[in-house]
Amino acid sequence: MNSTESIVRTRFAPSPTGYMHVGGVRTALFAWLVARQNGGQFILRIEDTDQAREVSRADQHLMDSLKALGLNYDEGPEGLCGPHAPYKQSERLDIYKKWAQKLINKGRAYVDPYTSEQVQKFREQAQSEKKPFLYRNHRPETLDTNWDGTKPLRFKSDPKHCESTDLVMGKMLTGPEVIDDFILVKSDGFPTYNFAHIVDDYEMQITHIIRGQEFLASMPNYMNLYQALDIHAPYIASVPPIMNEAGNKKLSKRDGAKDTLEYLNEGIPIPAFLNFIATLGWNDGTEQEIFSVNELIEKFSLERVQSSGAKFDERRLQWVSGVHIRAMDLSELYDQVQNYWPESAKDQPEEYKKAVLALIQERLKKYNEITELTDYFFRDLPVDERLINDNKQLKKFEKPALKQLLIVSHDILAKTDWNGESIQESLNNLLEKTGQKPGVLFSLIRIATTQSPASPGLAETMRLLGKEKSLGRISDQINTM
Ligand code: GLU
Repeated sequence: MNSTESIVRTRFAPSPTGYMHVGGVRTALFAWLVARQNGGQFILRIEDTDQAREVSRADQHLMDSLKALGLNYDEGPEGLCGPHAPYKQSERLDIYKKWAQKLINKGRAYVDPYTSEQVQKFREQAQSEKKPFLYRNHRPETLDTNWDGTKPLRFKSDPKHCESTDLVMGKMLTGPEVIDDFILVKSDGFPTYNFAHIVDDYEMQITHIIRGQEFLASMPNYMNLYQALDIHAPYIASVPPIMNEAGNKKLSKRDGAKDTLEYLNEGIPIPAFLNFIATLGWNDGTEQEIFSVNELIEKFSLERVQSSGAKFDERRLQWVSGVHIRAMDLSELYDQVQNYWPESAKDQPEEYKKAVLALIQERLKKYNEITELTDYFFRDLPVDERLINDNKQLKKFEKPALKQLLIVSHDILAKTDWNGESIQESLNNLLEKTGQKPGVLFSLIRIATTQSPASPGLAETMRLLGKEKSLGRISDQINTM
């Protein structure tokens, strides 16, 4: 990096070709963290030069996703904010033209005289001779520098050894055989990624490029172009791909990977999601797995990003999410889950809903589980016989025996003061009196009072439901047996 540069500037430079996948979030997050921890700037640039791959409104979706994640950018394509506008490559064609002309003037770019069919023939010929294909082997002796924009413009490379250092991958040494004359501007007037990103990163004064490893192999060619343009390359960090759970291929939709907004809509808290994404292939050198966003800003470093692919494990995401949820203040959690209550909770008092939330907080892994976990607190669910038939312990019993157990339970509970301690005492007495194990007796009472296979602690659940409701539901269950 140039010694006069002092402000760290990073960028997220997605192509608007689809949804915001976790790999994209990770690159954006890393770039954002580096900017924030250095008091620098984070820039969003839309790389829409491949018109054929473009998906309509994908750029808006990317911006919405960054906003939802709280990865705010200091400069970007909305309006004309920022000194380097426009931030959309399709609106910067004149800039690339100017830089292309610079290369032509320096004798480092020329008009491609071949049709794509001809180039394809060269490629096939090399293949049949079992030689690597190099375009520059076909570079014409006299170069056409009269470029009117209707034909592709190619870089005139200078094949030589190249040494570059990647912040994640380390030192890379390559020979001249990997350097070739690549296309700078296509015949449709749009620049290639290879050319445009180098121009933009320079013009936008980017100090750190953080991107996927798929560009690593092109680094020697990029270095060649930086030299031809007489500009310094920014620091570069090539981040390895996110792999599926088995670790044998890149994560894709087929592995169940979802769009970022989908994870957030399901109710994974944003700091938990960022924590999970940041620790896909990064750690701070200790055993710590749970980080707040501020801790990530403080502790993140590109040098500690692993150079091998990180596995995406959905269960780990749920675990991280659960840890974050458990650490939340009840009132904070209550605010967050507003849109996730079941219909039955609609007109219920806030105090009661908060008490219900406090009870289930321990087992909650994402907010959208609230519907199922709390419905029975707000309405009587119809008796579901499958719950007993599917229960490993209970299905061994004859129905009349279970009915008798419920009758005895009802009698004892009816004589109980309705506070957590007394209810627990009565439940313990019932175990003694009936000689049953908790797995049998408590499961039975739980099913009767909640019509659910699982609930928070039974005594606490019944206390919150109230005496009348709890006994009424036990009676309803008895009546169906
Ligand atoms: N537009 C490239 C992509 O979406 C980004 C590469 C980069 O960050 O330089 O793959």
